[in-house]
Amino acid sequence: MEAVSIYRSIEELAEKYGGKVVEWRRAIHRNPELSTQEEKTAALVADTLTGLGLEVRKNVGGHGVVGLLKGKKAGKTVGLRADMDALPMQEETGLPFASAVPGVMHACGHDTHTAMLLGTACVLSELAEELEGSVKFIFQPAEELNPTGGAPGMIEAGVLENPSVDALFALHVWPGFETGTVITRSGALMGASDRLFLTVSGKTSHGSAPHQGIDAIMIAAQVIGGLQTVVSRTVAPLDSAVVSIGTIKGGYRYNVVADKVEMEGTVRTLSPATQERLPGLIQRTAQGYAGALGGEASVEYVRGYPPTLNAPELFRLASETTAASLGEGHFVVLDNPDLGGEDFSFFARERPALMAWLGCRPVGKSPDEMAVLHNTCFDPDEACFPWGMRFMTSCAVDFLRQ
Ligand code: MN
Repeated sequence: MEAVSIYRSIEELAEKYGGKVVEWRRAIHRNPELSTQEEKTAALVADTLTGLGLEVRKNVGGHGVVGLLKGKKAGKTVGLRADMDALPMQEETGLPFASAVPGVMHACGHDTHTAMLLGTACVLSELAEELEGSVKFIFQPAEELNPTGGAPGMIEAGVLENPSVDALFALHVWPGFETGTVITRSGALMGASDRLFLTVSGKTSHGSAPHQGIDAIMIAAQVIGGLQTVVSRTVAPLDSAVVSIGTIKGGYRYNVVADKVEMEGTVRTLSPATQERLPGLIQRTAQGYAGALGGEASVEYVRGYPPTLNAPELFRLASETTAASLGEGHFVVLDNPDLGGEDFSFFARERPALMAWLGCRPVGKSPDEMAVLHNTCFDPDEACFPWGMRFMTSCAVDFLRQ
């Protein structure tokens, strides 16, 4: 089939399955499941993929489900990934299909990702004759389970092998952008998200006789100030990083010199090299300040999700494919990355990968009226679904035939 006519077929098929995708999305939205508990969602996914005649693997790294669609011609394999888990929040949208599970809500749009990928599987199944290779549909659990995430478990369970996946694509709905847009950039799209636990130790004494103790609160103040030099003095000005201390606990009484202060913080980075360097620099800084003042500092650094890095060659492909398939004006190139974490990054570390955001703000609605991700009123525009399916389908088709 000629390129132009396959894009036309994709558009018609996305239209054809659009209603089904809304149904799936609402069913999943009504029955949200927390990270690692995605049993019913996974069952719906597996049944649907089996119904399409795909080779289906269940329980891949927890409740992960994988469907394999083989094209008529041998060739490469492209992976398309969606996440399935919900968040521990009480929904307040008032929608007719609002969560029926108290305290659990699809507030990050993973219900829409799962439904759109099922729709994409329907579309691609109808185009199997045209496919010059295979498509692996990857439905992932536990995206919200930072620092572990659900992706590493699926990778360990062999999701990227047999057949080996040559490239991966994923979408995330994004309320800041209007329906009908696909938004991404080359290189870093989202940041690494690490967690920091800091303990400062000193010695108690009477508040009137600080020379007899070692004041952990005063040391903590110096350590926090010192940590602000880690980014400003050791990270290159055009690279980016954030070190934020979010909690601090210590002390007993107004007239007692404290012997212990505990702090927690978050560290965000964009380059893997900077993510690698920061734990050592943070430790050196905290211990140096504490040591200079006669105390001690210990640092526990928990590595979370790596930065989400988009492969430049897939960015070029997505840009050209979107222009050809969705039309001009639908592809938005971001100037700057976002420092939120996303565990698709684990896949992107193993294979060339591209994540794009899908605009889901209804046309005409102002950004101020649109609830953000992880808000109890988050309500993405369902009209974005065909755009997402067309994007994923076109990228898969074009990657396999290039
Ligand atoms: Mn998310």
